[in-house]
Amino acid sequence: MTEKMYTYVIIGAGLAGVSAAKGIRDVDDKGSILLIGNEKEMPYDRPPLSKKLWFGKKTVEEIFLHDRAFYDSNKVELSLGVAAIDLNVSKKIVKTDKSGNISYSKLLLATGGTPRVLDIPGGTLPEICYYRTLDDYKSIRGLASEGKKAVIIGGGFIGSEIAAALNVNKVDVTMIFPEDYLVQRIFPADLGNAIQKHYAGRGINILNRDLPVSFEKKAGKILTRTKNGNELESDIVIAGIGIVPAVDLAKKAGLRTDNGIVVDEYLKTSDKDIYSAGDNTSFISAATGDRTRVEHWDNSIAQGTAAGKNMAGERVKYDTIPYFFSDLFEFGYEAAGDINSQHETVADWKKEYDTGVVYYLKDDAVRGIMLCNVWEKIDEARELIRGGKKIKPEQLKGAIAF
Ligand SMILES: Cc1cc2nc3c(=O)[nH]c(=O)nc-3n(C[C@H](O)[C@H](O)[C@H](O)COP(=O)(O)OP(=O)(O)OC[C@H]3O[C@@H](n4cnc5c(N)ncnc54)[C@H](O)[C@@H]3O)c2cc1C
Repeated sequence: MTEKMYTYVIIGAGLAGVSAAKGIRDVDDKGSILLIGNEKEMPYDRPPLSKKLWFGKKTVEEIFLHDRAFYDSNKVELSLGVAAIDLNVSKKIVKTDKSGNISYSKLLLATGGTPRVLDIPGGTLPEICYYRTLDDYKSIRGLASEGKKAVIIGGGFIGSEIAAALNVNKVDVTMIFPEDYLVQRIFPADLGNAIQKHYAGRGINILNRDLPVSFEKKAGKILTRTKNGNELESDIVIAGIGIVPAVDLAKKAGLRTDNGIVVDEYLKTSDKDIYSAGDNTSFISAATGDRTRVEHWDNSIAQGTAAGKNMAGERVKYDTIPYFFSDLFEFGYEAAGDINSQHETVADWKKEYDTGVVYYLKDDAVRGIMLCNVWEKIDEARELIRGGKKIKPEQLKGAIAF
């Protein structure tokens, strides 16, 4: 079978894939680029799906990463609604489901991740929304009118954000999650409990230390049963319980994988012509020196850009300390480094649990920093983390002025 040939093939038309196409064009304005994505829409930004789209701050048209003219003028061929289904690394060929075989000189895997699914009775009912895509937003938006009931499974980023979004849209929200308090993985207990109290004050019903055990369709509604014996009927069920990195193609092709596709400091996989970037990628963290994988917007842009440049012949080391951001009602924050509630934390509040800086320490050094309603300080935070110098907790008050 004849195959189409491209200098650069990118699998995954998300943030990392699109950033890589730009990165390639920064270095090489001639080589042909094919961007393959299995979603139908033009590549879009995911954070607004649980924030700005719900607060009337963005329209769907405004979340696309670029318009068609951008891809045309940069000679980036888009192949949307098409999945890569096999990879032959010795022949350098990608097999797709609808566009035949494609050969490459350099390949990027920017396949992101897929939502983790609850392994309980009813967990795969089509009514249970594992929230990640623009299609998910559109389907929930259609259901989320005033007075409707929603059950949200998961108290992490996605669960907490979508709960706030629906509450603002006058939907009656119940959250179910096994942890003691909201976003427990990163918030110190006092902060997490304060935010949880705020959620309850807004009318959100919080069932912490609980788990769903089954879903059932009942007279046009969904019945959720929980471990603690709660039974909730709702119009909407959304689960945000994490993602599984999309590594199957890489694994089947014999590339090294662990909790993601393993790359070196240049984002190169165990095959010299294949790179990986974004949520699916296992890399060495500049913040900790440990191998890690993160699921953040900034990381996908920075890794995608660096991988694209390297595919086109540059030698850019990926040593960014990525940051992430979230908005939970009025509590907005940006955070960089190793934000882990198991670490020692030191909080420097101007207004308690609202405006301030939380430092995360391990081995007497600052490993992560959360800036709560404090803006434009992320580079200072990165510098403090990157330095890695020994510091005493009492020296941290005012370390970042705000
Ligand atoms: C609702 C929501 C809110 C978020 N909010 C924030 C936030 O506030 N702050 C923050 O830092 N991060 C946030 N994130 C995370 C951030 O959006 C992700 O880290 C980022 O989108 C990852 O980009 P990516 O390109 O690596 O992966 P993805 O966005 O997952 O893109 C990968 C693409 O590849 C496609 N694909 C996979 N396999 C194949 C294949 N075999 N063939 C073809 N195509 C394939 C996928 O369908 C997908 O379109 C949020 C995520 C969600 C879902």
